[in-house]
Amino acid sequence: MTTTRFAPSPTGYIHVGNLRTALMNYLIAARDGGTFILRIDDTDPERSKEEYVDAIKQDLEWLGLYWDRVERQSERLDRYADAAKDLRMMGRFYEAFETPVELDLKRKKQLNMGNPPVYDRAALALDEAEKDRLRAERGNGVWRFKLDQTRTEWHDGIHGDISIDTASVSDPVLIRGDGQVLYTLASVVDDTDMGVTHVVRGADHVTNTATQIQIIKALGGKMPEFAHHSLLTGPQGESLSKRLGTLSLRDLREQGVEPMALLSLMARLGSSDPVELRTNMAELIAGFEIGHFGAAPTKFDVADLFPLTAHYLQALPLEAVADRIAGLGVPKELAAEFWETTRSNITTLDDLAGWWKIFRDGADPVIDAEDAEFVAQAMALLPEGPLDGESWGAWTTAVKQATGRKGRELFMPLRKALTGQEHGPDMSRVLPLLQVIKARG
Ligand code: GLU
Repeated sequence: MTTTRFAPSPTGYIHVGNLRTALMNYLIAARDGGTFILRIDDTDPERSKEEYVDAIKQDLEWLGLYWDRVERQSERLDRYADAAKDLRMMGRFYEAFETPVELDLKRKKQLNMGNPPVYDRAALALDEAEKDRLRAERGNGVWRFKLDQTRTEWHDGIHGDISIDTASVSDPVLIRGDGQVLYTLASVVDDTDMGVTHVVRGADHVTNTATQIQIIKALGGKMPEFAHHSLLTGPQGESLSKRLGTLSLRDLREQGVEPMALLSLMARLGSSDPVELRTNMAELIAGFEIGHFGAAPTKFDVADLFPLTAHYLQALPLEAVADRIAGLGVPKELAAEFWETTRSNITTLDDLAGWWKIFRDGADPVIDAEDAEFVAQAMALLPEGPLDGESWGAWTTAVKQATGRKGRELFMPLRKALTGQEHGPDMSRVLPLLQVIKARG
């Protein structure tokens, strides 16, 4: 059975980059009727925060990316200890005592001699007495996994065949001196124990994968299929790493981006499939093909989310926005007409508030000097009584006769005087909704 996982570390809010990972894993599981696990990678007690665990869940729920199960690495430390023991028994795990300064010196020497800065495995030569002495002096060492120095190969769902020469990779530290299990080991143990069949994650994990494949083999686990999606860049190809903080899902939500707009973009961006607005998850699932994604960095422009959001909102029936409209204080009997009038002129739901304010309080008139007389003449012709759907047509016909103006010359000054805007909804619908007309003077 297809099983995928989204495995964020709860050290911050999730952003568009993480969302891509979450969404791809979600869609693969959903397409096959499989299991989507939310795995909280919280083995680092200092950096992991409970508030981020909650925030991650809220953000995924906002998007409708519901998980079948939550797992927490901090609750599985015994399992990682067992796996570490197995690796030790196989002779694939060794304790090393170099300080960061010593390691740095070694690296510099290797680089000076034109060699790759790969850990020299000096610790393998230590006998028990030397280890005891070092432990007494420096405390517990770190535990490194002894890589097979060969080529490690796999077929990546996005990059195709990948081959990494692990002779050029340092034996990875999997357990720190203070006993903290590091992600690489924990992740492999989890993927194996939880029957994860597909691992989709960012391209920054490609080298890691070679190591993980070797650990999976050593522990006798079943190999999942790997796919590494490209990293997102800004619209000009610039790195997004510093800006991702401002591209958190919370920020986007606050800016009024709609979940389906975000999902529609992220489920196709960087693939050969066109980005089109999808209005429900089933449509997103149906058209999703991980093999259609390219390996090149993917340009992401936050501005693309707004036309999709507008498109989504504009097609909504009144029921879907009724609460929001009521929340603005729009009287119930005006709600339907208000929505019909404004829907095609909003980008986000926040724009509704702006229109309601104009209708309720009246807009400060915008009147160009050359139109002042014309507007005054027109206002004198505007009936005092209640205005309806016919009023605009009748009024502008009368104004046209009285002033000789027509077309844009006639309509634009009136729109600006009544709404304070150059653009907006059909004026024949706006007029009856205006509770106050400041331009009457
Ligand atoms: N916690 C890891 C990360 O956020 C998970 C990587 C993975 O999917 O294996 O980078």
